[in-house]
Amino acid sequence: MRLILFGPPGAGKGTQAARLAVRLDVPAISTGEIFRGEVSRGTELGTLAKSYMDAGKYVPDEVVNGMVAGRLAEPDAKAGFLLDGYPRTSAQAQALQDVLAEASTPLDAVVEITADTEAVVQRLLKRAGIEGRADDTEPVIRKRMEVYAESANALRDFYAARGLLRQVDGMGEIDTVTGRLLAALGVAEG
Ligand code: ADP
Repeated sequence: MRLILFGPPGAGKGTQAARLAVRLDVPAISTGEIFRGEVSRGTELGTLAKSYMDAGKYVPDEVVNGMVAGRLAEPDAKAGFLLDGYPRTSAQAQALQDVLAEASTPLDAVVEITADTEAVVQRLLKRAGIEGRADDTEPVIRKRMEVYAESANALRDFYAARGLLRQVDGMGEIDTVTGRLLAALGVAEG
């Protein structure tokens, strides 16, 4: 299965992506995680990405697009993938569409995890205390929410127009949300 998961920061995408990836036996590919890895290894890409990430802004499309195209060309993504945190803009969605068309591997579904803004801000502030992520300070979290809200409409329209969009309520217990996601994808639990 080739899937995209999107939703506001703190909606639980990473947690759910990891669970779905196991259930569906495909790699979960998180652009945020890849960037954090590059930052911690001090690579050129990491240095570039860090300036945007620390401000809660998006890394430029051409940088992300190239990185994801390369990742999807790796052998483990041949049988399917679950993208978490990409695409985030219509330009990214279009670039991905082109890469997948070229390979004759169209998407099966795009799932939006919906969440209440104040609830996710509180979740992220709590996570900040545990993980200490550099972009989990309140002003940067608010900025990420704002940037997300601005781009989400375009993504929703892009994929709804292609008959791929499904929406799942991300509020509630982790297991409950996983169950909803599997149901939305027509996959049996367990
Ligand atoms: P969040 O929960 O804030 O969405 P992520 O771990 O998914 O966290 O991403 C962290 C940061 O990495 C983003 O704020 C952004 O700077 C950068 N990033 C991740 N994915 C993308 C993308 N597809 N396009 C542009 N920037 C991205």
